[in-house]
Amino acid sequence: MACSSFPATSFAKRLEGKVALITGGASGIGESTARLFARHGAKVVIADVQSELGHSVAEKIQSESGQPVSYVQCDVSKDSDVENAVNTAVSMHGKLDIMFNNAGITGNYDPSISSVEYEDFKKVIDINLYGGLIGAKHAARVMIPERKGCILFTSSFASVCYGGIPHAYTASKHAIVGITKNLAVELGKHGIRVNCISPGGIPTPLAAKTMGDVDLKTVQEAFMGISNLKGVPVDANDVAEAALYLGSEESKFVSGLNMIVDGGFCLTNSGLT
Ligand code: NAD
Repeated sequence: MACSSFPATSFAKRLEGKVALITGGASGIGESTARLFARHGAKVVIADVQSELGHSVAEKIQSESGQPVSYVQCDVSKDSDVENAVNTAVSMHGKLDIMFNNAGITGNYDPSISSVEYEDFKKVIDINLYGGLIGAKHAARVMIPERKGCILFTSSFASVCYGGIPHAYTASKHAIVGITKNLAVELGKHGIRVNCISPGGIPTPLAAKTMGDVDLKTVQEAFMGISNLKGVPVDANDVAEAALYLGSEESKFVSGLNMIVDGGFCLTNSGLT
């Protein structure tokens, strides 16, 4: 059997007893990760700004998996919201094992230098970069006394590919790789692993909006067309599987990694131009 045809569900539960907090968990990559983590035995807290959607996604995943899955309102660019989300996970479940700093926005889609404006730049940096950093700060606060834990970030292929990508987005995603490595050094002495994932084009509402409000199937076909893994369908679960590996004990000696999940796109393509 080809290795790509092994269903994840055929393996034992890989996050049994773990507690995970996932920012941006109401949609796309975060939602798929919440579902996969719960299926693998984790108790999951979804933190997002989309309250109605977040509650319904949490309810649905809980009923599918039988695991406790809840929603907490959280704007990751606000320190107090992130502090509250981490405290909520700990007060509900007694600990936090995995902090997935995944929430993100693209900001202004125009990749040209002439479109750069402070308000847009600041918003992208506040959410994609500062939001991740304070997620790590509050996770570290509760993980350090336990001398273990796993912090994950979602960066992007924009951390390794250039051209056709808005500058604020590129800046935020490059910086995420930098803080991943910095934190892997700083927190490694406390037994905490820190890694990031750089997805290629993944069919999610964010990508659909960026491409002009097209449907997810159109996004999937477009991304499959530019992937170097010909004929292999891509969806948000492909990134969730990477998060599952990095969140599980199977990666216990992996820290400071930028794991690129792009079907080989960035090996031969320089950005989106
Ligand atoms: P998505 O829009 O489906 O999900 C993003 C989630 O983040 C949404 O639920 C949204 O409400 C939430 N969010 C936005 N701002 C927030 C804030 N201030 N506080 C809390 N939550 C907030 O998009 P996605 O594609 O699943 O994106 C997830 C991550 O993946 C992002 O960091 C994005 O940059 C990254 N990424 C996506 C792609 C892609 O092609 N989809 C490629 C590379 C990287």
